[in-house]
Amino acid sequence: MKFNNKKALLTITLASALVLNANAENTDKTNSSFVVHKLSDSLYAIGEPNYYQANYSYLIVGTDKALMLDAGANQKEDITQVVKSITRKPLSVLPSHLHFDHIGGLHNFDSIYLLDTAFTRQFKQKDGLYHVPESVYLGNFDHFVLQPFKVSRLVKPNEVIDLGGVKLKLLGVPGHTEDEVALYDEKNNVLLSGDHLYPSSLFVGNIKDYVASVSATLNIINKDTAIYGAHAGSDPTQVPRMTYEEIELIRDKMKAAQDKTATPEPFSGSDLVRSTHLYKVDKEVSIYSDIEFNDGRKFGY
Ligand SMILES: [Zn+2]
Repeated sequence: MKFNNKKALLTITLASALVLNANAENTDKTNSSFVVHKLSDSLYAIGEPNYYQANYSYLIVGTDKALMLDAGANQKEDITQVVKSITRKPLSVLPSHLHFDHIGGLHNFDSIYLLDTAFTRQFKQKDGLYHVPESVYLGNFDHFVLQPFKVSRLVKPNEVIDLGGVKLKLLGVPGHTEDEVALYDEKNNVLLSGDHLYPSSLFVGNIKDYVASVSATLNIINKDTAIYGAHAGSDPTQVPRMTYEEIELIRDKMKAAQDKTATPEPFSGSDLVRSTHLYKVDKEVSIYSDIEFNDGRKFGY
């Protein structure tokens, strides 16, 4: 989850629509809320540039199976129809975490994977379905009610998901939420980082966990790793890609925030956040900790 200033975003969206058309051969534009970007023969980004949080979900296609990291925020349009225009391989979805903007389209998937930890297992009830409370998925912000769902496969931290020709290691990266995960493709040197890392305002749920997770990620990836996050930066039409150096800057600023050697900058409020400790990393990236939403709820665990 990240929160933009909606007024600023509107201007950017209108301006960047022209860029999209100019680059039509690079961008497979569907007549829906979803925009597909082919990143390699086995990796596609499916963006929602007109959604206020500019979510990006990722489709990974192996020789046997396909996997989506995140189900999109859109509750009405079926993201699996977009996937079907790319591949007919058996499809599963893995939420990067259980926030509303990553699971809006969860009901469209026949096969759902989920992180296997005590935190996620607590949601399984006697009917065998996962009943996640609103206090976890925060659906009120989008008037979204998550229906109980069946899990086809539980995946433990460091377990490998083999799609045939493409192997993805699930990394547990708590900090934004307890259940945040990333996927690392070592052979192709790609990290799909969900809400753990993206080039915009990062929401800290637990700063100790977050600093530890960013440090752990830096030990796994390298300077050539392609890092793709779940929310766009200031241009919602651009796939949110980051560099190793940017992740180092995030780690350093977040550590300084944790140690209280950095001073928060003034924050004037946004559509959804009343107050936060704001730390700027660079022009695009900032860190929000000690967040209180406009509805009075605090964010964190
Ligand atoms: Zn989130």
